[in-house]
Amino acid sequence: MTAYLMDGKKLAQKLRESMKKEVAMLKEQGITPGLAVILIGNNPASRTYVNSKQKSCKALGMNSLLIEFPDTISEETVLDKIKELNDDHSIHGILVQLPLPVHISDMKVIDTIVPEKDVDGFHPINIGKMMTGQDAFLPCTPYGIMELLHDSGISIEGKHAVVVGRSNIVGKPIGQLLLNEHATVTYCHSRTKELTTYTKQADILIAAIGKANFITASHIKEGAIVIDVGINRDETGALCGDVDFEQVKDKASYITPVPGGVGPMTITMLLHNTLQSAKNQLQHS
Ligand code: NDP
Repeated sequence: MTAYLMDGKKLAQKLRESMKKEVAMLKEQGITPGLAVILIGNNPASRTYVNSKQKSCKALGMNSLLIEFPDTISEETVLDKIKELNDDHSIHGILVQLPLPVHISDMKVIDTIVPEKDVDGFHPINIGKMMTGQDAFLPCTPYGIMELLHDSGISIEGKHAVVVGRSNIVGKPIGQLLLNEHATVTYCHSRTKELTTYTKQADILIAAIGKANFITASHIKEGAIVIDVGINRDETGALCGDVDFEQVKDKASYITPVPGGVGPMTITMLLHNTLQSAKNQLQHS
């Protein structure tokens, strides 16, 4: 059996086309969705992500504001800038590109963004709402994975989902979103003993580990749905996921490729959240 390829690039394009029309309609009503991105320091990977986010915003007709600070900037200055953006009606989404220099607290930064503009879905209020099944900005990568599962017509209810990885931005929230849709969820992490015992039980396996080609055919059961979140470089320097795609594709029923799977969906859901925030502003004006 060769797995059905869950094409995140294609779905992302489809969603972006429809968002582009919505942006044009909003503009006719006097609102241009705007995303402010704060980039601190000179981490090349962060800069690449930020450039990509800006480019994607512009392609949809949204405004994109980049605020750059050197990595010597004080925490107070960053927090003051966020407060200014919180009050700026032309800005609907605020994100601070992680990781931050050690002297700036991730938590303080995230807490300072008003939940209504927290388009990354990292604010405790949005996380709490997600956990209790209320309307909230969902974190973009888990949200993108759910969209991919829905688009592929996969029913989640009653399935055993095993999530390998428990980060606040991917592992924990994707488990919660799957639970909200009635999956039975198991979390695994670096202290899990006998990892394969769990992964082999998975109807849906989410790999969010950050280790190149870590999940092999021996980790999964025949017919599993395999979602690869990882973005890594292999020993040749080529981009690869956490799943050994060549091995696993012949045993899984569905699989996401890297690149072209979860990655394109992440930025798409960021754009979606920013557009939603602008629509919310229109409703409340
Ligand atoms: P983190 O490093 O924050 O988390 C990695 C998780 O994997 C941790 O919970 C860790 O366990 C667990 N882990 C590490 N080693 C093992 C092991 N041997 N066995 C089982 N579990 C293990 O990473 P992120 O969640 O931020 O990202 C994961 C991957 O996804 C990375 O490759 C990242 O680049 C990619 N990513 C991709 C995105 C996309 O858009 N496609 C978006 C975000 C991330 P413990 O908690 O015990 O340390």
